[in-house]
Amino acid sequence: MNEFYLKAKLFFGPQAVEHLGSLKCSNVLVVTDGFLQESGMVNKMTQYLPAGAHVTVYSNVKPDPSQELVDAGVEMIFDVKPDLVIAFGGGSCIDATKAILYFAGEKGMERPYFLAIPTTAGTGSEVTNFAVITRGTTKVALIDDALAPDGALLDASFTRSVPPKITADTGMDVLTHALEAYVSNKATTFTDAMAVKALRIVFEDLPVVFHDGDAMRARGRMAEASCVAGIAFTNAGLGINHSLAHALGGRFHVAHGRLNAILLPYVMRFHMAEAKYREPYDRLAHELGMADADELLQRVIDLRHELGIENTLADLGTIDPAAFEEHVGDMAEAASHDRCTPTNPRPVSKQDLVNLYRDAYNG
Ligand code: NAD
Repeated sequence: MNEFYLKAKLFFGPQAVEHLGSLKCSNVLVVTDGFLQESGMVNKMTQYLPAGAHVTVYSNVKPDPSQELVDAGVEMIFDVKPDLVIAFGGGSCIDATKAILYFAGEKGMERPYFLAIPTTAGTGSEVTNFAVITRGTTKVALIDDALAPDGALLDASFTRSVPPKITADTGMDVLTHALEAYVSNKATTFTDAMAVKALRIVFEDLPVVFHDGDAMRARGRMAEASCVAGIAFTNAGLGINHSLAHALGGRFHVAHGRLNAILLPYVMRFHMAEAKYREPYDRLAHELGMADADELLQRVIDLRHELGIENTLADLGTIDPAAFEEHVGDMAEAASHDRCTPTNPRPVSKQDLVNLYRDAYNG
């Protein structure tokens, strides 16, 4: 039996932020990061909340949120006792909020209404039942329906300030979500439809927003593609591209989307090497109006190049070769146990994962 899950009610489109005025709340907690607070974006959002609502802003979230940050957030939320929690930011802010609410719930807190407002178009975290938390040097994907927000508000005006580099990274995260969801061994007609739509938008609109951050129609479409890809992968699961990126990101702290983008052609080739695992890539290429899996692979490589993303992990210049070799076995071990690995279409050994890391490092 299959199932399809979508918990969050979606509010989207220009001026979607005005929905905030209709929320019943008196004590609001906003979980965000320092940049969004200091840049004035948090105030731009909270001004739409009902007059008289008391607002507490918790702006301590850092990229790749740690378990320690989550634990501190759990203490904080018991002090604030909000009736509405808004996660405002990229995947890091939304994931931190999800984990804070999850662990606070385990300690007996009654769950307030939880609304996610993404300010990047990348993770789809506003609708997923995933939260990625860093424990020591490992990024751990928590997966539980209880993590999913109750509502998601997509107002692309909040993504306008995302600089080209982060636009590229997060956009390639959308592409990787949709592609891994499509080829996943848990894919269904429903998730395929969403993955294909998200990929069409990414190929068309990601170059547009990379070159012109004020292209608001394309920003809006990317925000929707991110969410649609999130719905696809929350139901179909992901694959080893994400498992490899999680273990690598926990160790070497490179933006998640950039790691996904660098790894992706190597992971695609690994699958396409065997006819049985190439087949869904061919099918996907046809759905996207391309000739075959080879053309799809080339389009991914071309897009990555247009966005100024490196071809190899070595090209990043921040991952020392000796440190990489020292940790490659541990990272492969962690990736083999990652929650994204079971839905990968092709079974993998730890040695396969080591080989993929080395391929992606050296090119
Ligand atoms: P992020 O949240 O880490 O943010 C990256 C940077 O972008 C930060 O410095 C942030 O301040 C900045 N930023 C955010 N919004 C901005 C804006 N509007 N203007 C200018 N700068 C802005 O990046 P992300 O890619 O959105 O999230 C990555 C995290 O999400 C990783 O930890 C990743 O593992 C996780 N993730 C989660 C899921 C999920 O389903 N829960 C899926 C994929 C990835």
